[in-house]
Amino acid sequence: MAEISSNFIHNIIDKDLEDQTYGDRPVYTRFPPEPNGYLHIGHAKSICLNFTTAQKYGGKCNLRYDDTNPVKEDVEYVTSIEEDVRWLGFQWEKRLWASDYFDTMYECALKLIKKGKAYVCDLTADEIKNTRGTLTRPGEESPYRNRTIEENLALFEEMRQGKYANGEKVLRAKIDMASPNINMRDPVIYRIAHAEHHNTGDKWCIYPMYDFAHPIEDAIEEITHSICTLEFEDHRPLYDWVLQELDWPMPPQQIEFARLNLTNTVMSKRYLKALVDDGTVSGWDDPRMPTIAGIRRRGYTPEAVRDFCERIGVAKANSTVDISLLEHCVREDLKEKVESRMVILDPLKVTITNYPEDMTEEMKIENNKENEAMGTRMVPFSRELYVEREDFMEVPAKKYFRLFPGNEVRFKSAYFITCNEVVKDEEGNVVELLCTYDPETRCDSGFEGRKVKGTIHWVDAKTAVPLKVRLYDYLMMEDENGETYINPESEKVVEAFAEPSLKDAKPGERFQFFRKGYYIADSKLFSKDELVFNQIVDLKSSWKK
Ligand code: ATP
Ligand code: MG
Repeated sequence: MAEISSNFIHNIIDKDLEDQTYGDRPVYTRFPPEPNGYLHIGHAKSICLNFTTAQKYGGKCNLRYDDTNPVKEDVEYVTSIEEDVRWLGFQWEKRLWASDYFDTMYECALKLIKKGKAYVCDLTADEIKNTRGTLTRPGEESPYRNRTIEENLALFEEMRQGKYANGEKVLRAKIDMASPNINMRDPVIYRIAHAEHHNTGDKWCIYPMYDFAHPIEDAIEEITHSICTLEFEDHRPLYDWVLQELDWPMPPQQIEFARLNLTNTVMSKRYLKALVDDGTVSGWDDPRMPTIAGIRRRGYTPEAVRDFCERIGVAKANSTVDISLLEHCVREDLKEKVESRMVILDPLKVTITNYPEDMTEEMKIENNKENEAMGTRMVPFSRELYVEREDFMEVPAKKYFRLFPGNEVRFKSAYFITCNEVVKDEEGNVVELLCTYDPETRCDSGFEGRKVKGTIHWVDAKTAVPLKVRLYDYLMMEDENGETYINPESEKVVEAFAEPSLKDAKPGERFQFFRKGYYIADSKLFSKDELVFNQIVDLKSSWKK
């Protein structure tokens, strides 16, 4: 007996393998995006599920573009989809287009007509909708339902030849107008659309509907388990009906799982496209976007996204996952992987008045406190420094152990420093701290004379390099009624000062800014002349197990 997995889909597959439902065929899944936008984190869930399921069983997974709608292909979307799947770490078995199967789908439609299982209907879209019935009332049969097979074949041929305008006629499956499942009440399976298709050009003016096309696509590719989201559950009887009426041997089976919903996130290509088109964001890959391109540019790692998808599991009921879990996975992944640097985001100048004017020392600092193997680096220290403004309080709050007049703190990997005097401008703003250091307390001297409670970081003013750092808050917020609105303060750009080594960063390189969080050199905007960094995630987690 196979072990019961928390992933119910794997339990279904285990049973199918035991029963030899598919003979000796391999487990075969597919990821079927419509190339009408960039993929988002919800798609990442589907990608991970389909590809890792195939991997687990030594099977295969196809990338199949669902292009049964005759819209112009957007090469940008196709390229982005493939880049995203590869970035997540997966490689498809075959890359296919649903439109490659139009001939077969047409043959299948003919087969249904010849079996008396499909008919040409002249009702308008509205009439079809109005005669469909409701959950409590059966639908009404179309007056065209009993056309002869010959008549249907002739009319369908005329539809194909382009004799009719869009919407003038449709092909409907002849199932059951009284079915408790409305999808089974003679659904439309082919419609007329006089439109150019990116793949088939003007060969066709009739196009198959998704519910008819999808099972055929799966069957042709010998998909065994066709995984989709819950909204297709009521369509499954139609999926099965199509393949059964076509006498397809060992037909694939559709399995539904709950789509991923995340707090502070809208996952709809249409919604995200609107944000791009109206300029709310700088593009599909704006680091605030929940697109895979966006989170990649933001600095999230494929490992973190895969870990997240694994942790949330596969559910049968819709729910909303807290985005802080995704952030937690990012932190966990970066913790031992990236080097730390000292960066001051909101600088306050410090002068060590008893430190020699022209002296500079090199202080040795570990690159990653959690991972000794990452070694150390030397960081310059001299008389003038920057510290974070929030590391100083003129009148300290209770339990505030950082800089305030009269208090001594440790400057990370350097000396004990005492704040003596506060310099203010005409408006009374603190502009500089005058401090003294104790030469005895150099961090590598083994000094044990006394202890201090606070440790703060610093950057040497003379050698500091300026950074442009983009700090992020959630792009999408929810008001008290649960309505999503766009946060007008989701991006804040600050001028920061960093230790000199950051000027050698490479675009796409990630760091921990000591005591602050994780940051990435922006893959597009970072250059030698302008060191642009994006905040990936802060250090502290609001997520509780
Ligand atoms: P959107 O409404 O954002 O365009 P879609 O479902 O129409 O989403 P498709 O390109 O048709 O987008 O989806 C490709 C695959 O990704 C489908 O199998 C779909 O079920 C799955 N998918 C889409 N959104 C999610 C989600 N939030 N969680 C899990 N899977 C998803
Ligand atoms: Mg869609």
